[in-house]
Amino acid sequence: MIIDTHAHLDFPEYKIDLDAVLSRAKEAHVGYIINVGTSLTSSKKSVALANQFKNIYASIGIHPHDASKISEQDWQTLQLFAKESKVVAIGETGLDYYRNRSPREEQQRMFHKHLDLAKDHNLPVIIHCRDASEDCLNILNSHKNGTLKGVVHCFSGTKETAERFLDLGLYISFTGTITFPNADALREAAKTVPVERILLETDSPFLAPQGKRGERNEPSYLSFTIPTLANIYGLSIKDIERITTFNAYKLFGIGESEQGGKVAYAIRNSLYINLTNRCSNMCTFCMRETYPIVKGHHLTLQREPTAEEVIQTIGNPEEYEEVVFCGYGEPTERLDVLITVAKFLKSRGKRVRLDTNGLGDLINGRPIAQELKGLIDTICISLNAETAEKYEEICKSVFGKRAYPALIQFIKDAKRVVPNVQVSLVDIPGIDEEKCKQIARELGVDFRIRRYNVLG
Ligand code: SF4
Repeated sequence: MIIDTHAHLDFPEYKIDLDAVLSRAKEAHVGYIINVGTSLTSSKKSVALANQFKNIYASIGIHPHDASKISEQDWQTLQLFAKESKVVAIGETGLDYYRNRSPREEQQRMFHKHLDLAKDHNLPVIIHCRDASEDCLNILNSHKNGTLKGVVHCFSGTKETAERFLDLGLYISFTGTITFPNADALREAAKTVPVERILLETDSPFLAPQGKRGERNEPSYLSFTIPTLANIYGLSIKDIERITTFNAYKLFGIGESEQGGKVAYAIRNSLYINLTNRCSNMCTFCMRETYPIVKGHHLTLQREPTAEEVIQTIGNPEEYEEVVFCGYGEPTERLDVLITVAKFLKSRGKRVRLDTNGLGDLINGRPIAQELKGLIDTICISLNAETAEKYEEICKSVFGKRAYPALIQFIKDAKRVVPNVQVSLVDIPGIDEEKCKQIARELGVDFRIRRYNVLG
């Protein structure tokens, strides 16, 4: 299921065939649509559409083009709409200095009013910003007080501007323009936006994607934009669908929350196995307790699965290129289950990887590398520090000073029995990357840097 977070189905373009448009949206798995108001009339129609169709929600607001046309009485009426149960956002509002259809001062005044209204109702804002980034950012900064939330719709700015909007905690959405052959700069800018902060939108009836360019746009055409996003992020179409749907749920509260307790979860063409949420470390950067979501998958287990349950959940491993033991917890905390499942996977000829903190020997009270022989093809061990003291500071292991030497010993042991051994570090300040690289070189293993906050 996917969500079109920005459409204008109340526009005259859909007067004749709205039912057909909605039916095509359903066929294309568009589960929900947010119809975005641009004027008092359009906001009223948005609310009416939302009340008429179960899968439509409304956003209410006055487009910056119309900022000077709205009276105080109109504004009061608009404020009343904000109380409607299917209104999930305020906007579109913002600044448009490209067309300047309303004086800039009026646009700014209305933008402030929308932001106050959103705050009063604890709703996100849908922001239109065209050729006005500096003023938009200044106004948004003046409303930054812990409650500001929203999305910059139809983003068309630079990488630097995207970063500044992201710093405000905002989401960014891309329309069909990102599919245009001449949109390389936009695609480059999109790469700097974490996939956890993007939303899908069509801006129908405008900006139809390549393949439908020049035609009236409609929610079902999201299917043209998603492959481009998948390409930009190196993810699968399913990943983009799942992640953006979860993002829309988080921002607008529509759709369904991702079910917790995933034992097996797919990203790209790999299947990941989440055996436990226990870990002998409490790394300063770990998010397993604060944000247990990886690429739209919720990994807080209700209980730890048995080996049989894991195998049953995996189903047919043929569908995946590789199976990875990596969840929100340390897999070697459940070494017996790991070994049973790995044996099953090897019996099916699967490539198996283990992501570990490398403290399995201490966790299990015996050297464990030999037990992995023939079962694990690649092992990725978190090094995360160049000294035992630094490791203690960052990884806060229950094993204290014993942890780092045991980790180094495990890397050496793993090298003897596992074909590919890799050590990694997370790029947080304070870790001496060069020294870690040097340690990897001396141990004769590969080295990789993992980006902080980027999981899966
Ligand atoms: S080793 Fe991994 S799971 Fe354990 S605390 Fe550190 S980051 Fe989290």
